[in-house]
Amino acid sequence: MSDTRHTKVLIIGSGPAGYTAAIYAARAMLDPVLVQGIEPGGQLTTTTDVENWPGDINVQGPELMQRMEAHARETGTEIISDIITSLDLSKRPFTAMSDSGTTFTADAVILATGAQAKWLGLPSEEKYKGFGVSACATCDGFFYRGKEIVVIGGGNTAVEEALFLTNFATKVTLIHRRDSLRAEKILQDRLFKHPKIEVLWDHTVEEVLGTDTPPGVTGVRAKHVKTGKTTDVPCEGFFVAIGHAPATELVKDQLVLHNGGYVKVHPGTTETSVPGVFAAGDLTDHVYRQAVTSAGMGCMAALDAERFLSAQPVAEPVSA
Ligand code: FAD
Ligand code: NAP
Repeated sequence: MSDTRHTKVLIIGSGPAGYTAAIYAARAMLDPVLVQGIEPGGQLTTTTDVENWPGDINVQGPELMQRMEAHARETGTEIISDIITSLDLSKRPFTAMSDSGTTFTADAVILATGAQAKWLGLPSEEKYKGFGVSACATCDGFFYRGKEIVVIGGGNTAVEEALFLTNFATKVTLIHRRDSLRAEKILQDRLFKHPKIEVLWDHTVEEVLGTDTPPGVTGVRAKHVKTGKTTDVPCEGFFVAIGHAPATELVKDQLVLHNGGYVKVHPGTTETSVPGVFAAGDLTDHVYRQAVTSAGMGCMAALDAERFLSAQPVAEPVSA
């Protein structure tokens, strides 16, 4: 059965950005409705130790997200287990349709649908995710102190991650499928000059090698793209840095995007190209992609939405 609901603020997404936006919007008396999506709690529910969330020396990702959900609920957010399947931003109130058949109309929308790392798609990569395979050097680099690491990719992210990982690793091998990098020249210079970094050109990774008990990575099998010759590169950490895909399916034809598909916001705000639509978290952030920065942007989005709504003319009462 379909029904229609109106809300002042519709928040789409239940990661750190969405829940933080909800807490601030609820405390601003905006009675927000938050739709959780297919992954309630977002990306952090797919990891174990989170060691850089301020105030928690070590917290499990799923537990942290349950606490954020409870906090958002406690402040008065209505949290709905559903998926937004389409969104019309062409006129206000904005309209969102959900998988269960609800139509939401909203005076303002906060988009917090996150981003997903791209993966190579190897079964062995999947097997060792969380046991040596990662897509986040900032999150997991610390676990590879004094160990060898392999990074795959040739863009800014791969080069930045390789450089960052030298803080921990004894050696970092960057594997790239071509003979030149896509990354900015200044980053390339730093990479080539670094004594701990070696580049393996013209190679892809065809298998992640490891042990079963305990589960862990011991190396990667790299394959030369022209000769087909394989080389086993030893490592305990394998970082996949071949790009991220921001979750812009709902808005890609309606909002201005940049930097490879991220939602563009006006600098220093969460305002998108459509007034009344705000974006927060990994969806709009190709640089930091952290829980704490996403939460910070969630706060900004709620404050921006509150200011936007209070600047709107009050509707005239309909006379009898
Ligand atoms: P996400 O967490 O990606 O959440 C997106 C939300 O949008 C989800 O709830 C999803 O269900 C919802 N959604 C998507 N589409 C729809 C739709 N159509 N309708 C409704 N809802 C929708 N960061 C750190 O700071 N520290 C760490 O230790 C750390 N470890 C990590 C480990 C792993 C394995 C990964 C993958 C990431 C890690 N990160 C870490 C990064 C961190 O998780 C992200 O930066 C953060 O989760 C981004 O928050 P977000 O709210 O923008 O989006
Ligand atoms: P990216 O620029 O798209 O680079 C992805 C890299 O991965 C490319 O080198 C690509 O190879 C390689 N790759 C893709 N699929 C692969 C596969 N299946 N197997 C092996 N290699 C594969 O992604 P990004 O580095 O994450 O950057 C995304 C955007 O954010 C860019 O606009 C970037 O400039 C920006 N960014 C900026 C900064 C910064 O300003 N400091 C930092 C990070 C990111 P090819 O080169 O052969 O295509």
